[in-house]
Amino acid sequence: MTFSDLGLSPAIVKAVEEKGYTKPSPIQEKAIPHILEGKDILASAQTGTGKTAGFTLPVLQYLTDTKHPKYRPLRALVLTPTRELAAQVHDNVREYSKYVNIRSSVVFGGVKAASQIATLKRGVDILVATPGRLLDLHDQKAVSFKRIDILILDEADRMLDMGFARDLNKLISFMPVERQNLMFSATFSKDIKKLAEGILKNPVSVETAPQNSTAKKVTHKVFKVDKGKKTTLLIKLIKDGNWEQVLVFTRTKHGANKLTQKLIKDGISAAAIHGNKSQGARTKALKNFKDNTIKVLVATDIAARGLDIPLLPYVINYELPNVPEDYVHRIGRTGRAGAAGEAISLVCSEETEYQNEIEKLLKEKLKSTVLDGFEPTDTTPPKRAATQSKSSFGKKKKTTNTSSSQGNKPKRKPHFKGNKPAGSTSGRGRTGAPKKKRF
Ligand code: AMP
Repeated sequence: MTFSDLGLSPAIVKAVEEKGYTKPSPIQEKAIPHILEGKDILASAQTGTGKTAGFTLPVLQYLTDTKHPKYRPLRALVLTPTRELAAQVHDNVREYSKYVNIRSSVVFGGVKAASQIATLKRGVDILVATPGRLLDLHDQKAVSFKRIDILILDEADRMLDMGFARDLNKLISFMPVERQNLMFSATFSKDIKKLAEGILKNPVSVETAPQNSTAKKVTHKVFKVDKGKKTTLLIKLIKDGNWEQVLVFTRTKHGANKLTQKLIKDGISAAAIHGNKSQGARTKALKNFKDNTIKVLVATDIAARGLDIPLLPYVINYELPNVPEDYVHRIGRTGRAGAAGEAISLVCSEETEYQNEIEKLLKEKLKSTVLDGFEPTDTTPPKRAATQSKSSFGKKKKTTNTSSSQGNKPKRKPHFKGNKPAGSTSGRGRTGAPKKKRF
């Protein structure tokens, strides 16, 4: 299967090939034809699967096929939970739209709004945004959602975790009811299913890995250790293993700062990334980590979400998350794009319950070892895992149709102006021109 076989035009395929992609990833192969047909999608996909191209490429195809010669209203909106993810998705959009006449932009908080407003005024076809800033800009009438044809919710589970449910509903209330919705989520809790039910209409379910499962090529390892010895153990692991690029997770911002300082004191280059850091500091830390200027990036869950760190060999849980789904998100950063990775957790007696909950979610036992000189002696009783996560341990509720289901009508008409997907039976030729004028 090639990108052309999926129904993408030569201009889009050219940009993708320049990125070095030789063939579509499984999620791209599954999702792109449905998106081109105008269907709603509920996709279970972690970062590292190629999900960004999975939605961006067909959306660009749609936008170019249906472009008005004069007007440039906002027609596709991508919402992401974090600024970093927004910037990263927009970088991808820019690269993939290199050879098509589509204008894109990104807006997020933490930076001045003036230049964002000016860009929006000039008109963009596709916008990537975080919910809070976008709502502000909408309130200021800097942007209109009246012509939105496609809404994409990227990392929807994290948006809910971050408390964006109200903002999302408000934003959606300004959009046309007739639109296509694409929702991507790594995990499926009760809340996320509820959100999907409220937004998606007869969605096609696209899965690339079993729900709530981790990437297959990741080896999980647990080192049982006393809380007070975790830093020494981490330093030993980094130094003995000559690890060059390590992502370390802590539960708190304060913990991230403290650990970073200790690593630096011990001669290991490190930086922290969390919500209290300025946008500039976060961007700089990520850049330094990506280009190997620093070895260790210490992150909290929220800050690390969705970051594109290619071929990351190690992810360390300095502390286990108390919400088991966060474990899945964390280790989504290793073993990506087919490469092997190691997820190592340093677990003290207090965290036994968290480990149990994670094992229940993954439906597998994590291999536990004790390193010589780090034998645990603590007997502090375990803390309880967050009860909120329990809901997702239950049976899967059927909220979506499968691709073969009946009555799965597209929200907008199919728009195969470019190549028609292989094996597709629907298309503009068969269904005629769109009823609704989009401009
Ligand atoms: P994502 O899951 O969208 O964050 O993408 C993860 C990584 O995979 C990014 O570095 C992409 O550039 C890369 N990628 C996306 N699609 C493909 C593909 N078809 N072949 C190879 N790499 C890809």
